[in-house]
Amino acid sequence: MKALVKSKAERGLWLEDVPEPEMGINDVKIRVLQTGICGTDLHIYEWDAWASKTIPVGLTIGHEFVGEVVAFGSNVPDLHVGQIVSGEGHVVCGRCRNCLAGRRHLCAFTAGVGVNRNGAFAEYVVLPVSNIWQHAPGVPLDVASIFDPFGNAVHTALAFPVLGEDVLVTGAGPIGIMAAAVAKHAGARHVVISDPNPYRRALAEKVGVTKAVNPLETTLAAVQKELTMHEGFDVGLEMSGNPQAFRDMLVNMSHGAKIAMLGIPSEPIAIDWNQVIFNQLTLRGIYGREMYETWYKMTVMLESGLDISGVITHRLDWQDFEQGFAAMRSGNSGKVILKWAD
Ligand code: NAD
Ligand code: ZN
Repeated sequence: MKALVKSKAERGLWLEDVPEPEMGINDVKIRVLQTGICGTDLHIYEWDAWASKTIPVGLTIGHEFVGEVVAFGSNVPDLHVGQIVSGEGHVVCGRCRNCLAGRRHLCAFTAGVGVNRNGAFAEYVVLPVSNIWQHAPGVPLDVASIFDPFGNAVHTALAFPVLGEDVLVTGAGPIGIMAAAVAKHAGARHVVISDPNPYRRALAEKVGVTKAVNPLETTLAAVQKELTMHEGFDVGLEMSGNPQAFRDMLVNMSHGAKIAMLGIPSEPIAIDWNQVIFNQLTLRGIYGREMYETWYKMTVMLESGLDISGVITHRLDWQDFEQGFAAMRSGNSGKVILKWAD
């Protein structure tokens, strides 16, 4: 089958012919229809320090996908051929304390699809049945293909109650934009998003925020004044990994505010801890999605009118993957989708 493979320990990705993945009794084989390119895939393409110490050469990459079930093992009870599914990208151990308690997103022995095991940028992918999400009827294929990052956005945006609250999102990448839309849908009063990139601010405005600001030109204090906020933001969603964005956030929160942190900093960030202590802030790290409460929430929010399709800016055939990665690299993109089959 055709697959996008990290075949060499250097910059780039290569289209290769590889054997179809084998299936065990608890596994599901999926014909991939569409995939989303994640920032992680770009790191693997660029072969940065993280990628070169994490990714085994020869790995088929990719973890954001939608596909149809073509086969399943003898232990799989409730699937049928042709069913439209996505895969949870974190394969957990199933036996640790957190897994046994049903807190699978906290498993310390998680393996990543397309990171530690072969992924979905291919004609077929095989996953354990415990990693399969069966899509509800009516979910558009485009949106289904980005349930993984949409799930990051939902997990973060709903980490703390947002009803009636003023929410600050730092970073208008695809996940920040989706998180802003989720916070609005969940009843936040004002949702302000910050990003120096004008393309992304325009996209955020299209998908639905109160205000998109350039932090290099406008202070968040000025935005608070303009929106007649009393004391500061109640909930912060850190979606940039940028040290300055996080420091700006800290000084613009109200006393007792809550901050959920998804953005991955490339180096340690120094902050003034007095701001956390005296303002009694709660900081919470977010990784992945809750299995499967986040997936359930994504589905029902779509059913109740949430529309995140505007975050998809590029739809390309798999052969044009170089163009897709170039769009990601340019920053002038939202989600980039590659189509593998009809
Ligand atoms: P992205 O890189 O596309 O978006 C980050 C955005 O932050 C960019 O648009 C950039 O212009 C903006 N930014 C840079 N400096 C800023 C500043 N000073 N103020 C405000 N914004 C600034 O990333 P994405 O795909 O949307 O993902 C968001 C973040 O979440 C990334 O850091 C990513 O690595 C991380 N992530 C974490 C998890 C997890 O499970 N924790 C999963 C997926 C992604
Ligand atoms: Zn575990």
